[in-house]
Amino acid sequence: MGEENNKIKILVAEDDLVSRLMLTSAIKKWGYEPIAVDNGKSALEILSNESPPLLAILDWVMPEMDGIDVVKALRKNKGEIPTYIIMLTTKTEKENLIEGLETGADDYIRKPFDADELWARIRVGLRTATLQRDLLDTQRALEYEAIHDPLTGCLNRRGILERLREELERSQRTGEQLCVAMCDLDHFKKINDNYGHQTGDDVLKGFVQIICSQLRPYDKLGRLGGEEFLILIPNITESYARSALERLNRMVQNTELETCAGKMNITVSIGGIIIKEKTNVDDIIKRVDSALYTAKEKGRNKVIFYGE
Ligand code: GH3
Ligand code: MG
Ligand code: MG
Ligand code: MG
Repeated sequence: MGEENNKIKILVAEDDLVSRLMLTSAIKKWGYEPIAVDNGKSALEILSNESPPLLAILDWVMPEMDGIDVVKALRKNKGEIPTYIIMLTTKTEKENLIEGLETGADDYIRKPFDADELWARIRVGLRTATLQRDLLDTQRALEYEAIHDPLTGCLNRRGILERLREELERSQRTGEQLCVAMCDLDHFKKINDNYGHQTGDDVLKGFVQIICSQLRPYDKLGRLGGEEFLILIPNITESYARSALERLNRMVQNTELETCAGKMNITVSIGGIIIKEKTNVDDIIKRVDSALYTAKEKGRNKVIFYGE
């Protein structure tokens, strides 16, 4: 056990003082950091944290909440339990062991515990938990990458269209109005042609920063591809939607972007729609696209709503 073990936290939930002290001192001796509590409720709180300890040793019978109830509650909240859980049992509770393991505990050890055996089981547990945590981290990273644009950090096409589907469903359920806007940077090709692709990339990043600084937390921005973006503004009145998009349009026009070729000004054309009646994603995209086309036709750097 080298230095790297120093930071590994192990939760010990045991109401019996003697047993708790023996566990914590053994854990300390092995180079881990014990977190000791004397009831199930506190254990559940700690295990429900954002980053819970990798391993927990839970006594089966405790006041407030049994070890097994802790596991059940964790399972209910999160499905997969990220912490490796070793149950502490006495001989008489043997029949319940199956239930314990079925519920989501990973291992058990009898009281009074044998120190060497406990140590070996903790090693196995930590190995398993580390592997599982790394897998979960990888999975989360992949899930994030699948719906985000690596250049600008905003949602990508798939991400924003998924959100649109959700928001549409929600607005149709609640009767709230949803504003959808398609944005296309004006004469963006010229920036690439005149200053190079890197500058074009900086402009795309700068554009996303401007829009994100203006949106509310539940508004969404995604890159459909190239220099085309989609904005979702849920739960909004028609007049507010109009002024919001006008404001975004002016903000883009009036903000100097920092690029590797120096400061730069750009403009954006925006096609918007307020959704009031039942429709679908494809239809919305077609309509904002046609509104955007009109905005380009009418001279760019404009907001045009569908049907105008
Ligand atoms: P308009 O005002 O009609 O929209 O003209 P535009 O030049 O903006 O439109 P056009 O569709 O002709 O050009 C879009 C350009 O965007 C062409 C393409 O090379 C560039 N582009 C697409 N994706 C990227 C990217 O990720 N980075 C950079 N730098 N350029 C990109
Ligand atoms: Mg007990
Ligand atoms: Mg375009
Ligand atoms: Mg363009």
